[in-house]
Amino acid sequence: MINQQALEKLVAENRAITATGTVASYIPKLKEKNPSDLGIYVFTEDGAEYGAGDYNTKFTIQSISKIFVFALAVMDNGEREVFKLIGVEPTGDSFNSIANLELKDTHKPYNPMINAGAILATSMIHGNNKKEKFNRILDLIRACCGNSSLEINESVYHSEKDTGDRNRALAYFIKSYGLIEDEVDNVMDTYFKQCSIEVTCRDIAHAAWIISNNGVNKRTGQRVLSQRICSILKTVMFTCGLYDASGSFALDVGMPSKSGVGGGILSTTNTGIGIGVYGPALDQKGNSVAGAAMLKAISRDNGLAIF
Ligand code: GLU
Repeated sequence: MINQQALEKLVAENRAITATGTVASYIPKLKEKNPSDLGIYVFTEDGAEYGAGDYNTKFTIQSISKIFVFALAVMDNGEREVFKLIGVEPTGDSFNSIANLELKDTHKPYNPMINAGAILATSMIHGNNKKEKFNRILDLIRACCGNSSLEINESVYHSEKDTGDRNRALAYFIKSYGLIEDEVDNVMDTYFKQCSIEVTCRDIAHAAWIISNNGVNKRTGQRVLSQRICSILKTVMFTCGLYDASGSFALDVGMPSKSGVGGGILSTTNTGIGIGVYGPALDQKGNSVAGAAMLKAISRDNGLAIF
């Protein structure tokens, strides 16, 4: 049963697990977050919503942005063009690995949920200049999150921009094979901005609820994403959404999900339920340690796994 009491209990039972993780520090501004924060927000299939713990605390979306940018790249260019350049295979490597780009013949990023694939997807967004491209990404994220006031966190954006050389290296590497047309600086500026968009658990739970309902906002009747795009997103989230822990997370939790180093995890289902969790203390693979534990418990207790 998913209700207010159940969510409060979930947060209370899992908060201590936050002590086993560490807040990301490779983007200096991220380490200012409180490691013991833990929150969850759920939209249920009958339209009810519940939040518990630190569900109202803002955090940066980080890699959760990858699902929306990939969706927009497919909308702008069509599936065939995107899949020519970006694969849909899990890597088993860390999110910012460069290894496969060099070792495999095609130099094609393995999937859009790792940094290489996401940076390439960002470079494929249509627009006359980087401002227009970023605004189109922001508009889609706002529509999916049901929150027209979402903005970037300027200090996280600058912090990542000042320290993002590894991501720049990925972009230059991909560009050297002719896969990126635009200037790397423009692409990376958009990429750093998309990662710095500030959200709450409710925002990402709303987006998970839209994806669960195959792209339709059940309250307004508005279509935000196509059914096909939702199927593609659920597939890549299920197989590649949790970095190199995607397989074990799929087994433990069974919901298509995407994590970010800001501490958020967006989890969707096939039954109209959308979940967002936040806990900035991360495990060694970069996933919210207590957030993942809550998702495992809520999935087990309510039969949310898609298999
Ligand atoms: N902005 C982060 C980076 O590119 C996102 C990483 C993540 O959330 O996995 O390093």
